[in-house]
Amino acid sequence: MNYNENNSEAPKLFGTSGIRGKVGSEVTLELALGIGRSLSTLLGEGHRIVVGYDSRTSNKMLESALTAGILEGGCNVLSIGLAPTPLVGYATMKIGADAGVMITASHNPPQDNGIKVWNRNGMAYRAHQERALEKVIHYKTFTNTSWENIGRVKDISSLSSLYITDLLNFINIKPGLKVVVDCANGAASYMSPLLLRKAGCDVITLNSQPDGFFPGRMPEPSDKNLGELKKMVKKSKADLGIAHDGDADRMVAVDEKGVMAEFDKLLSLVASEIGGRVVTTVDASSTIDLCMDKIDGQVIRTEVGDVHVAEAIEEHKASFGGEPSGTWIHPDFCMCPDGLLSALRVIELVQKKGPLSQLLKNVPSFPTLRERIDCKEDQKNLVMEKVKKKLPHLFESVIKVDLIDGVRISMKNGNWILIRPSGTEPYLRITLGGKTIEEAQKMMERCKGFLGGLM
Ligand code: MG
Repeated sequence: MNYNENNSEAPKLFGTSGIRGKVGSEVTLELALGIGRSLSTLLGEGHRIVVGYDSRTSNKMLESALTAGILEGGCNVLSIGLAPTPLVGYATMKIGADAGVMITASHNPPQDNGIKVWNRNGMAYRAHQERALEKVIHYKTFTNTSWENIGRVKDISSLSSLYITDLLNFINIKPGLKVVVDCANGAASYMSPLLLRKAGCDVITLNSQPDGFFPGRMPEPSDKNLGELKKMVKKSKADLGIAHDGDADRMVAVDEKGVMAEFDKLLSLVASEIGGRVVTTVDASSTIDLCMDKIDGQVIRTEVGDVHVAEAIEEHKASFGGEPSGTWIHPDFCMCPDGLLSALRVIELVQKKGPLSQLLKNVPSFPTLRERIDCKEDQKNLVMEKVKKKLPHLFESVIKVDLIDGVRISMKNGNWILIRPSGTEPYLRITLGGKTIEEAQKMMERCKGFLGGLM
């Protein structure tokens, strides 16, 4: 290594949702050790860090390295073991620990793993906090703790029963609903069925044994991965189907007819039920605006990523926040996105107001299309400058232009378009919604032609 490299800026390790990548090449023992050491260095001796992991084959391996790093720096590990991400966030908050670390790659394929760090209120680490960790790792300014101050490990896995009790006290569900839950063989495999049974639901489970090979389905809860769940809901005449991603900070629902709920419609339905001021990201459709308008609520938009949603909830004292992917934050419970609580919210709603398919029928629909256009890294800024100037004039009756994350325009009839650069890949992303799928397709053609002319 030459001196220039030594003095170079610390490389970025954290992406939009923690660290994620291939085990062994991108997410390594050295990396987990480095995160443990840097956390301990920054927090200082004697502080407490909750550590949990999802069901991946590399979970114990990475946990051991991370724990070693934390202990070396003199911090103590509160080990919660296999746990959904929201339990790690909740435990950190409940105990008043100084940080939480979840070892997970969320919905990524089995070959991947990752690390995400949480604050003491259960909120994801902000960008500047992640940057501080990256710098300690890069410059190796780790604390050397003397032998008598090396940290200790305490098992806190029993806290999961308190989590379930607190969730059930937070929400009001009566016994009687039949629910099929598909845990993807992920982190919520034991917890989510147990919670739903304690809530009084008649529960049928799918893929509810933790297994790092994800033999039942891939951990992404997409429509194409949920065939078995949709079939089982119909076959068993259940009221609802629930599916989690690998770490269960997300939840998607299947209605009683076996149809997966549109992300934006479900988000809007729950947001308007909670009411008040709600936060969502720029890539959510106009559905939420129309729903919140009806009840005199307010929508605050933010950049894509759950940490931005959490920051905006804090800043605006919002009652709820969510991304259309099904990552929802319930701030009155905890600042960590919680797919188990999200499931309880949907169950509560169905019990109060009727079958999910009927409830969704009354929510305005804006079929959403997503495409990506090649754009070299060094061209992104220039092209986005042109998009900013020209896109608002490309369509008629534009009533709002948002520049929070890329360029988002809203039209009088509810149609909307978002063009934003990918943070990690050489693309621009077009996301848009139209009153009908035909309208959306026409808008997409026009946007692609427009972008083609700018490059
Ligand atoms: Mg997740």
